[in-house]
Amino acid sequence: MTEFNNFIDGRFVAGRGDAFANHFPTTGEVIGQIRAADRDQVDAAVGAARAALKGPWGKMSTPDRMGLLRKLADAITARFDDFLAAEIRDTGKPRSIASHIDIPRGAANFGVFADQVAVLGTECFDQPTPDGAGALNYAIRTPRGVIAVICPWNLPLLLMTWKVAPALACGNTVVVKPSEETPATATLLGEVMNDVGIPPGVYNVIHGRGPGCAGEFLTSHPDVDGITFTGETRTGEAIMRAAASGVRPVSLELGGKNPGIIFDDADFDATMEGIGRACFANTGQVCLGTERIYVQRGIFDRVAEGLAQQARGYRLGDPFDDATTMGPVISAGHREKVLSYYDKARAAGADILAGGGTPEMQGYEGGYWVQPTVWTGLAEDAAVVTDEIFGPCTHLQPFDSEDEAVALANNSPYGLATSIWTTNLARAHRVAAQVEVGISWVNCWFLRDLRTAFGGAKSSGIGREGGIHSMEFYSELRNVCVKL
Ligand code: NAD
Repeated sequence: MTEFNNFIDGRFVAGRGDAFANHFPTTGEVIGQIRAADRDQVDAAVGAARAALKGPWGKMSTPDRMGLLRKLADAITARFDDFLAAEIRDTGKPRSIASHIDIPRGAANFGVFADQVAVLGTECFDQPTPDGAGALNYAIRTPRGVIAVICPWNLPLLLMTWKVAPALACGNTVVVKPSEETPATATLLGEVMNDVGIPPGVYNVIHGRGPGCAGEFLTSHPDVDGITFTGETRTGEAIMRAAASGVRPVSLELGGKNPGIIFDDADFDATMEGIGRACFANTGQVCLGTERIYVQRGIFDRVAEGLAQQARGYRLGDPFDDATTMGPVISAGHREKVLSYYDKARAAGADILAGGGTPEMQGYEGGYWVQPTVWTGLAEDAAVVTDEIFGPCTHLQPFDSEDEAVALANNSPYGLATSIWTTNLARAHRVAAQVEVGISWVNCWFLRDLRTAFGGAKSSGIGREGGIHSMEFYSELRNVCVKL
């Protein structure tokens, strides 16, 4: 059984907070124990991060720092199989997904943001003055300081390094609080940090739950200079309240209830492939996933049946078997939540085109399984259509006009992403600009260029990360005005 310890100042230390079990979602068996950090240990982690800022890390030249981050990317790749096994055991996600997305992209984040910092400029203004001599203004980019990184469980390594990589590239130090469901890859990264020679205190990991525990101890710590968070909107509200004390900046990547919009001129096969992934990839546990789909009436039945067929075609099972295409959900608690929505859909009179319950899983009876599910026929104000479920399920609704589709898509407090399917170029641009989201995909889904702005509108977040936008959050500009 693996013991997940905290990583503070370059050393692994057993937590003095509460201890709790880590489960393998495929079978439900206990595979590890998490020893949460208590308040003093969180304080020690923040202290180590502060000291590292003043130590060799703070004094390191930018090319040397970028060199270390590139070595880090290579070192993660060199231990690919260890990271892969750790991620699969924490999440139950199939190897086919984790080996193509989670681990390679987790490693790549360090190279991408090292490249970004290498070409980063600042601004400069030549200012006239009454004496005719003028003044020169130029900006210096400085790290923010100690950054608290609070992560969810759905793409643990990928989403954690999406924040840690730009933070370190900008010269900050970090204290990471991984999800209590997925402690493994953040812990393993501590070993790799030591192996490549990242100075102690630059990267710290504290384990534990959120409210009243390690998460809250960290976000309310007065010596944290900025907080970056990915998770539920409700948690984002609590974190924003914590950040108000001391006026610390926050970057919030939150929940969604993302609409897909399919017009009757769409390329049918490409649409079905893309929208199917958007609904079911990672067992529907992707913040950008599509849980409500609006389909132009003429092709509604064909799309609904096509999606139901896809849902029925998933192979649920052992994540280490390459034939497996869908894993369980993350935990018993999350399965209960997803199934409560399956019950609500049935009670509200939904037409259940596929799934709708729990599958028979011989040999994996203790796992957290739910069936991939497709509904139609619910009102737009049904809980299943308004709430983020975060499971492998979606609801389809017909529409007649473009304006109606946009209005339906925008009828949500969330605004993370949309995917629009049409071969009409003018319509694609028109609709993409009108849906109130941070990311509009046209004829694709989850196609990510890491230089682009990533984040949510409305209740789906505050701020943007990715490319220069990450640099803006993880560094601060100091203007220097020189009278000539
Ligand atoms: P969550 O909000 O329950 O937990 C996220 C993290 O916050 C965990 O580490 C948790 O321990 C911590 N936490 C909880 N309460 C806290 C508190 N009061 N103070 C400090 N820390 C606290 O989210 P989750 O269930 O782990 O993840 C699923 C959610 O994440 C979904 O809503 C999904 O849409 C969202 N998500 C968003 C994005 C995005 O980029 N917008 C990406 C992935 C996931």
